[in-house]
Amino acid sequence: MDCIFCKIVNGELPSKKVYEDEHVVAFHDISPIAPVHVLTIPKKHIASAMELGEGDAELLAQLHHAIREVARATGVAESGFRIISNIGSDGQQTVPHLHFHVIGGRQLEWKA
Ligand code: AMP
Ligand code: ZN
Repeated sequence: MDCIFCKIVNGELPSKKVYEDEHVVAFHDISPIAPVHVLTIPKKHIASAMELGEGDAELLAQLHHAIREVARATGVAESGFRIISNIGSDGQQTVPHLHFHVIGGRQLEWKA
């Protein structure tokens, strides 16, 4: 599979990991837009949130558990942060492997 995030999962590409368990890995974004910018991804290749099915309910819970662990590990659990998952062309998704941006460490602007 020619997918850069699958390559990060299997160790073919390096990453700075913040959290890892059996189903999920979280690592620092290579081009951060805030002091904290971590990508939380399923180890299983899923192209985007549009490809999630009913059988992925537990995986989604695991991803959100991981996001809370990332927030604690990076020190933004109390100050707040944002979770973003870009989807498709208008969403400006550039890597077609489901990922949740965890962004914080500064006052964020709203809206897109
Ligand atoms: P998106 O535009 O929502 O698909 O987000 C993809 C993100 O992956 C961008 O913020 C990139 O900076 C980030 N990215 C791309 N390649 C790598 C990599 N090798 N390691 C870490 N982050 C990456
Ligand atoms: Zn992948």
